[in-house]
Amino acid sequence: MMDTFFISHGSPMMSIDESVPARRFLQSWRSTVLSEPPKAILVISAHWDTAAPAVNAVVRNDTIYDFYGFPKPMYQLKYPAPGSPELAKRVQELLTTAGFGGVQVDSQRGLDHGAWVPLMLMYPAADIPVCQLSVQSQSSPFHHYNMGRALGPLRDEGVLIIGSGSATHNLRELRSGTGHPVQWATAFSRWLTEALTTGQFDNVIRFEETAPFARRAHPWPEHLLPLHVALGAAGCTPAATETQTDRGPHGIAQATLIHDSFTNGSLSYASYRFSSPHHLSL
Ligand code: ZN
Repeated sequence: MMDTFFISHGSPMMSIDESVPARRFLQSWRSTVLSEPPKAILVISAHWDTAAPAVNAVVRNDTIYDFYGFPKPMYQLKYPAPGSPELAKRVQELLTTAGFGGVQVDSQRGLDHGAWVPLMLMYPAADIPVCQLSVQSQSSPFHHYNMGRALGPLRDEGVLIIGSGSATHNLRELRSGTGHPVQWATAFSRWLTEALTTGQFDNVIRFEETAPFARRAHPWPEHLLPLHVALGAAGCTPAATETQTDRGPHGIAQATLIHDSFTNGSLSYASYRFSSPHHLSL
């Protein structure tokens, strides 16, 4: 059974800027995180926002340059991974069965930079089929958590589920350079790591009420919502009835921090792995 992941894709500059630490982390993915190649990859990207869930189904993915004013070479990068109409159909089926209405299959759309920038570094051969699934920024984190729950069976089918967003994301508060991150950003990022790694998944789902600087770290929620999908897909239970001692490494899903860095003063690259109980008992 596959683990699920949340990756902070940060700035599109990571595609060419060798100095971004998260770039080296993603390049080491196959040697340090996941040595076995998945059969297919499903990326939930913060950069595809629709009213109802949508999944793309193409033969080969186009590379979408959904960023503006960046250096020209970035607009020549290509990530022509095959699509997977079969996986798209399966995603539609699982979500519809779970009660999600109006799930769309998009036969045109390729991969936006939330998907192709990290994948280009993780799987540079672009030979693993990729589907993208949208977020619904008008819906709650709980809606996204439930989408993840519905998609959980894909882990048994060799599909790598990746939520791609940013652990902190406030574009109005970016600064140039790689100096020390600001206090509110580190406070939020630390809170997120602590909440995830100690099994406080219900607090992560209710982050808008429970996290310090939640509004400042996420003036709009779309860059954190892919995390909630990954959390749900791994079977991380938020059951309010459980006591603290029932959670953590005792037979339920567990989160670990697999990378942590900042750029631009407040942009976190914190990335997490969500391991299922089955995985842990091996
Ligand atoms: Zn982004």
